[in-house]
Amino acid sequence: MTSNGHNEQLRSIPSVDAVLRDTQIGALAGASSLTAITRLVREATDGARIAVLNGAEAPNVEQIARVVMARAERTWSNWPGRVINATGVVLHTNLGRAPLSANAVEAAGHAAAGYSDLEFDLESGKRGSRNSRISQLTADVTGAEAGLAVNNNASAVLLVLSSIAEGREVIVSRGEAVEIGGGFRIPDVLSRSGANLVEVGTTNRTYASDYAAAITDRTAAILKVHPSNFFVQGFTHAPELAELVAVGRDHDIPVLNDLGSGTLLDTRRFGMEREPTVQDSITDGAALTMFSGDKLLGGPQAGIVCGKQELVDRVARHPLARAVRIDKMTLAALSATLLAYLRENAETEIPIWRMISASEKEIEARAKCWLEAAGSGEVKPGRSTVGGGSLPGETLPTSLLAITRERDAENLAANLRAEDPPVIARIHEGELLLDPRTVLPEEDESLMAALGHAFGNSV
Ligand SMILES: *Cc1c(COP(=O)(O)O)cnc(C)c1O
Repeated sequence: MTSNGHNEQLRSIPSVDAVLRDTQIGALAGASSLTAITRLVREATDGARIAVLNGAEAPNVEQIARVVMARAERTWSNWPGRVINATGVVLHTNLGRAPLSANAVEAAGHAAAGYSDLEFDLESGKRGSRNSRISQLTADVTGAEAGLAVNNNASAVLLVLSSIAEGREVIVSRGEAVEIGGGFRIPDVLSRSGANLVEVGTTNRTYASDYAAAITDRTAAILKVHPSNFFVQGFTHAPELAELVAVGRDHDIPVLNDLGSGTLLDTRRFGMEREPTVQDSITDGAALTMFSGDKLLGGPQAGIVCGKQELVDRVARHPLARAVRIDKMTLAALSATLLAYLRENAETEIPIWRMISASEKEIEARAKCWLEAAGSGEVKPGRSTVGGGSLPGETLPTSLLAITRERDAENLAANLRAEDPPVIARIHEGELLLDPRTVLPEEDESLMAALGHAFGNSV
């Protein structure tokens, strides 16, 4: 197009005011914020200008109005929106980690919708503590003396180090001075807490004697960090927690144990490597153990600190505890989740354990149903992963629905993401793969409707 042609096309792009006078947009503006509508209209006309400069024709008012309406519908709906996770990654950080149990959802809903006895003692009619119930529950399921719940495990670690070691030294193995993800680096957290890091051993081998040799009168604690998102193979050594506790005991130094995912169930029962349990950490003598609420506990985003009563009290009294306070909806969901463990119902009630414990046979049968809904493809063996910074490298045998068509896998995946609810699949070596393990059986109907709609008639 000539530059004159461009100018003419640019001039014929409708003005923001002209679009706002459109009847549909006018109706939308009447029922919502004019500022927000104007922004969307301006974005659409700016977009049209760029398109015209790239050679497109100028859109008319109706065309711009359509773009604005579609954008309004997409961005002004409740968020985050539900998606179906068919990736086969159980704890998918981008998809919100652990889905909650029905009981946890109900508890959070009740806590959210009305008033509650969050900090109120019904017996005395006086002020109560936000933490006493969770402390008791945590103690009952882990064997610790007491517990404290905060915003997430990152804040639990920061809070513990600030309360126990500010201005003093914390001994950490070089192999554990790691980055957990999302910029959460143990050395940085230590320096934020005001504690000084004393690294011992080497990246691959550290012994209990290395820790013992580093203890001075400035030492506040030994910190053990579970390497949750990587594993070191070959010529390696890390002392057992119990050995560190023995070293600590000799010098009256507490051992703090950041477990990361912190499972309460023995993962070997599901054919996986043994992830250290919270109960073991307590029996082995860690003074404080920290773990996540939304990893292998299968609850809401939270961080739990449990261990010796006196130390938990000290952590709870630190001023930072108020800054990382857990909210009532989370607390309700967390207590419902812990109750499932107390009643020994975790495996049947908590979604991530239902997924992890699902039988291969059942998964294969579902994959075959999905295949029928999709119209074509094949069911083949594959692996699911736990993910979310737990059990690195661990996979579970599964059956996958593999869809290969003329169009490329990216394209097919985009079609599934455009469904309602969106279905998130995985792509491997040009194939679109869907794993029933991470889709709850009660979501199968929606998923198959999406498959039928996206692929059923378009072989
Ligand atoms: C995941 C993880 C954390 C951070 O926990 P969040 O609940 O995500 O804040 C800290 N330490 C370890 C070892 C972890 O695996």
